[in-house]
Amino acid sequence: RTMLENLTSQPPDALLALIKMHAADPRQDKIDLGVGVYRTGQGDTPVFAAIKQAEQRLVDQQDSKSYLGPEGDMGFVEALMPYIFGDDPTRGGRIQGMQTPGGTGAVRLAVALAQKAGVERLHMGTPSWPNHAQILGDIALELAPFNHATEDGRADIDAVLAAIDGAHETDAILLHGCCHNPTGVDYTDEEWDRIAEALASKGLFPIVDTAYQGLGHGLEEDAHGVRRVLDAVPEAFVAYSCDKNFGVYRDRVGAFYAKAKNADELETVFSNANALARAAWSMPPDHGGAAVRVILRDADLTKLWLDELDTMRERMRTVRERLAEAGVAGSVDLVPLGRQNGLFSVLPVTPEQVKQLREDHGIYMAGSGRINVAGLTMTNIDKFIAAIADVTG
Ligand code: PMP
Repeated sequence: RTMLENLTSQPPDALLALIKMHAADPRQDKIDLGVGVYRTGQGDTPVFAAIKQAEQRLVDQQDSKSYLGPEGDMGFVEALMPYIFGDDPTRGGRIQGMQTPGGTGAVRLAVALAQKAGVERLHMGTPSWPNHAQILGDIALELAPFNHATEDGRADIDAVLAAIDGAHETDAILLHGCCHNPTGVDYTDEEWDRIAEALASKGLFPIVDTAYQGLGHGLEEDAHGVRRVLDAVPEAFVAYSCDKNFGVYRDRVGAFYAKAKNADELETVFSNANALARAAWSMPPDHGGAAVRVILRDADLTKLWLDELDTMRERMRTVRERLAEAGVAGSVDLVPLGRQNGLFSVLPVTPEQVKQLREDHGIYMAGSGRINVAGLTMTNIDKFIAAIADVTG
């Protein structure tokens, strides 16, 4: 055996396989509900106008592409903080951040640093974004799953409170800040209050993954959970992605934030975070983060960005309302989708029904039943509802 013959084939990314199948389908009225990007009512994923203008300024004004440090563009990192953390965004100097390659890099850094600090096991609601478990597997951090959503499409608050209550001293918990992927099921403000209190009284370390701020109910509304948790506990990590709410997916724009008990601990925390980042990716890609910084430092561009984000969110709410109005399609109750948030929801369909939707109706979705609601438009939504009724009826 040669060295490379020791490798065994890994399963392909199911969503990428789905993209290929969708591309090869000649049907004009096919519907792609697979890949997790926002789409307009015309089915496009355009570059935000605010990003285009910011990029133009970078082209005109950027005078060097010399290296930054592992912390990336700190102007970007700091400009985001009021949006995530609200008033007193550093909580008296106790919160600090650094740039990461996307939200993925931020999650990776958060769990690796937690592990370095002594965390041995991570509680997490399932189902979750599949890469969460993959990252934990890669760094060999044990996963302790609890149930995220109930059958009627609400958050399983009892399960998360039980997980917190039963946690060990060397455990941490990962929570989605808003627009849960894949279920769309978020905790209500009151549930966040209970979770924050439980975390505080148990002394459990939270990592909040916020990848869709502004795509649920609004920038401020979507920050309630992360702020409540941060205010309740002495220490926490936040993994943040700008890839959806600025539409810069491939530019890999994210940030990692830590809250420490005392401001003077942050230097040690970030010397460790920097060491992990240097070993993994040295420094984050600059371009997208720089464009976001240009937007957030300019009132006109900020307004343009906020308007574009409002349009996205309102379109997804309209699609969700239309689905909820349809009531029950075959055996699928669409009503819960109306109160769920963000790009995704999971339909109670079998893998066999998913296959039938694909083959008989040209509707492409993940085998888990996850749909990207932004793949639906006023033109194809009735066909979609009828197809669900057909294969589950
Ligand atoms: N966390 C969650 C919950 C996500 O859904 C995603 C992306 N789909 C990420 C993190 C990572 O996002 P990014 O593309 O910025 O790496």
